[in-house]
Amino acid sequence: MQSYIENSGLRRHILIVDDEMINREILGNLLQENYEVHFAENGKQALDILIKREHIYSLILLDLLMPVMDGFELLDILKNDDKLRTIPVIVMTSEKDAEVTSIKLGAADFITKPYDMPEVILARCERIIELQEDKSLIRAAEKDHLTGLYTKDFFTEYIKQIEKYNPKKSRDLLVINIEHFHLINELYGRKQGDKVLICIADILQKLFDDTHGIGCRTEADYFYVYSENGTDYDKTLMSLLDGLDDSVPDAHVRLRMGVYPDVDKSLMAENWIDRAKTACDRIRGDYSRHIAYYNNEFYEKSKYQEKLINDIDRAIANNDLIVYYQPKYSIQCDTPTLRSAEALIRWNHPELGMISPGDFIPLFESNGLIQKLDRYVWKEAASQIGKWKKEYGMSIPVSVNVSRMDIYYPKLRDEFKGLLESNGLETNELMLEITESAYADNADQLTNVIENLRSDGFMIEMDDFGSGYSSLNMLTTIPIDALKMDMKFIRNMQKDDKSMKLVELVLDIAKFLHVPVIAEGVETEEQLMLLKERGCDIIQGYYFSKPVPPEEFTQFIIQAKG
Ligand code: C2E
Ligand code: CA
Ligand code: CA
Repeated sequence: MQSYIENSGLRRHILIVDDEMINREILGNLLQENYEVHFAENGKQALDILIKREHIYSLILLDLLMPVMDGFELLDILKNDDKLRTIPVIVMTSEKDAEVTSIKLGAADFITKPYDMPEVILARCERIIELQEDKSLIRAAEKDHLTGLYTKDFFTEYIKQIEKYNPKKSRDLLVINIEHFHLINELYGRKQGDKVLICIADILQKLFDDTHGIGCRTEADYFYVYSENGTDYDKTLMSLLDGLDDSVPDAHVRLRMGVYPDVDKSLMAENWIDRAKTACDRIRGDYSRHIAYYNNEFYEKSKYQEKLINDIDRAIANNDLIVYYQPKYSIQCDTPTLRSAEALIRWNHPELGMISPGDFIPLFESNGLIQKLDRYVWKEAASQIGKWKKEYGMSIPVSVNVSRMDIYYPKLRDEFKGLLESNGLETNELMLEITESAYADNADQLTNVIENLRSDGFMIEMDDFGSGYSSLNMLTTIPIDALKMDMKFIRNMQKDDKSMKLVELVLDIAKFLHVPVIAEGVETEEQLMLLKERGCDIIQGYYFSKPVPPEEFTQFIIQAKG
């Protein structure tokens, strides 16, 4: 196995301190092939150089007898300096006694004059540096075999080393990710994929040489760079894209970049990496943006989200979560009639006030908490239907939202059946809305779950139809009972002919499938009339009512009873 130093490919800096030029030359020549060598003629000069901290010195080779400030004095100063004491020192001497004194003073090793064989000197330097570098650093696998960049573990350790020696410098953490990298592999083959990765690594190494950047690759297609602040990242991105265009023109690579500028030194290196990645992941799939910066807004948002995650259990226990109901009306008769309702969650947070589901549903969908929340809503809604039924002798079917994650819950059927039983409901009284995008996820599994639920008698509404990616083909294989046209269609309907045609198209698709259409987000009488003329069956929207708490919803029931 090659040694750590050779293997890492990193050129470390060594300071040679000797008043005799010939000695400086001999050692310089010997070491310069493997190291960046710097020279000082006496202890004072050496100290000036070290204090400037232009480089991280991995080793000092120190002569003991020198004018102005000798090696002993310098050793003493170094020993008493918190930062400088970590740089190992090898003393160069011809006096046996001095060796003992210098080792006592904290030197790591010694070289005797006249000099030993060159290999011996090199080996000693290397060994001392190796000993000094953090053990964790040495243990971590250093290099990514494919690109020659560091591994993430090593990169993180290395950042820590850099900070230890030069903590004041402002630095940025950059991450680059390839959009749909797996597609490049699948479409053009792994070799081409590798070529793309290698090309990015090569360009990065060149680009960040001037700003003393270090880089790593991880999770196949994430590249991180830690470098001095002040890079124009738009230019970096352009250079990368140009370079890729030259070396792998047919791959059409798209990149995303996340930058955490001027990293907060009170946090850990791992946090910097996370922040850059958070910024980068935020623009996934957003074709209008290629670079995102982590800033305070990001920070505030993630803090807010963290709070919501922490508070969800308490919210359930304290009934801070309230289920609102929005009526759905059949409109094809003379006067619109109350047909059913949709259950929509609200969070009345003791500190943050009323929070809209738009703030927490996507968050909980991304971390799995949605299952807990949905089950809470189902239970509340089922019990509410039962209450209304008892109180008004009238059945108001309520639809609840079923997230894509709920689909994979093995006891889903039992859960719903249990709710019907405990509240004395028929299966057609609790309807299930499943968002269209869930259909694209795993069509086979979804079909299976839906078929089972329908065989139990449940009605399935496909929510947000037209916003996702379901193919017409899929519509014919997955059984549904109603189609909820996405709000966007209604919003645009009156803009131009084309948009109106789209609404008509959705209505035609539903006719073809023999299912009714529910138009969501209807706010005006005009919209209602246009939809009615075109045969839309059911309407939900502010025109009739916003979602309201159950007490308020009773007015619609009373009205309906006449
Ligand atoms: P959704 O299921 O598509 O629900 C319809 C949303 O449109 C509701 O927003 C409703 O208040 C709003 N809306 C209804 N009529 C109008 C209108 O005329 N104009 C406008 N501008 N908006 C209208 P809400 O309650 O904020 O819910 C947003 C989304 O959050 C829902 O979209 C649904 O995806 C999700 N959500 C709400 N409650 C739950 C729940 O209990 N479980 C799950 N999994 N998701 C929920
Ligand atoms: Ca819905
Ligand atoms: Ca919807």
